[in-house]
Amino acid sequence: MNFDFSDRVGRVEPSATLAISNLASELEAQGEDVVDLSVGAPDFPTPDNITQAAKDALDAGHTSYTSSNGIPELKEAIAAKLRGNGVDAEADEVIVTPGGKQALFETFQTLVDDGDEVVLLDPAWVSYEAMVKLAGGTLSRVDLAQHDFRLEPALDELAETVSDETKLLVVNSPSNPTGGVFSDAALEGVRDLAVEHDFAVISDEIYERIVYDGFEHTSLGSLDGMEDRTITINGFSKAFSMTGWRLGYLHAPSDLISQAGKLHSHSVSCAVNFVQHAGVEALSERTDDDVEEMRQAFEARRDMLVDLLAEHDVDVAVPKGAFYMMLPVDDDDQAWCEGAIQDAKVATVPGSAFNAPGYARISYAASEERLREAVERLAEHDYI
Ligand code: PMP
Repeated sequence: MNFDFSDRVGRVEPSATLAISNLASELEAQGEDVVDLSVGAPDFPTPDNITQAAKDALDAGHTSYTSSNGIPELKEAIAAKLRGNGVDAEADEVIVTPGGKQALFETFQTLVDDGDEVVLLDPAWVSYEAMVKLAGGTLSRVDLAQHDFRLEPALDELAETVSDETKLLVVNSPSNPTGGVFSDAALEGVRDLAVEHDFAVISDEIYERIVYDGFEHTSLGSLDGMEDRTITINGFSKAFSMTGWRLGYLHAPSDLISQAGKLHSHSVSCAVNFVQHAGVEALSERTDDDVEEMRQAFEARRDMLVDLLAEHDVDVAVPKGAFYMMLPVDDDDQAWCEGAIQDAKVATVPGSAFNAPGYARISYAASEERLREAVERLAEHDYI
């Protein structure tokens, strides 16, 4: 039959990141050696103590549904972790989700009605736009590219963009795709605007454990005035190299949790039982050394990549966190990325996917050897 698809699903495109990974996989299937710098997953194994905790949980028979919002031990561990960030959190203000993505999806669905204004800071991670559109919201955007991806110099533009009509602002620091980390002054600027215009803020802190140069992450929800208007999103994928385990969470005031909890129970029911038990272990201090080792490896790769690119006279905005970097390329970044993968066999993601034309996003979740190889190939084929 000819399906009559919903308007909703027609509003969004497939993820651009996936399109490039698929192209990389196709070339690899043809026997090509592709340096894949398009993926947003740490290239380390999940720490052993976490894997062991999952095995123990399976052996102990934790294989049935859990209460919808998550097992009490994990909700408590998450609340304690957030209190460590200065966020006034209780276990019953947490929903444990299959990945941070689901936590975001539930938040947008809970807050955004048709025509509601949601503000994004560009370049922005691809799925925010899709999720806002699926919820029927309209997008306003503030471009940070002209400010080296920093928010502080763009606060005036943000002030001009938001109004009493604004429903929601999305802040993602450290940022995918730029690696930018917003200063405390920038976050305070966001707080002042949110309070003045009475809008809510999603703070996506999924890269919080991956910050460099001795920087300390600040949770937006810890700022005075933000406690009752912040939805904090986080997950286990990046800090603990657990992308395939699908575990994340949202924290918000309890009235929002009651509403989002309805969506949660009617869609996913709950996150995977034994994975939640592994999550409790992940948040324990027994994992701290592994997290720190991965963080240091990312920082060393960042330094190496910045230096290697400088040798080819390519200047980048030096990332302060996450494992991404924006490489300035031709205006037609789509053509640049397609060419780079076909000719140099180096996979990156076009900046346009993040509303940042003229850049390609490099993920340096790859070994130093592969990163060196990528730069050499790009130079050899005149892409840098
Ligand atoms: N937020 C950002 C900014 C991300 O980059 C990602 C993953 N790419 C997520 C949320 C979701 O991650 P997950 O669903 O694996 O927790």
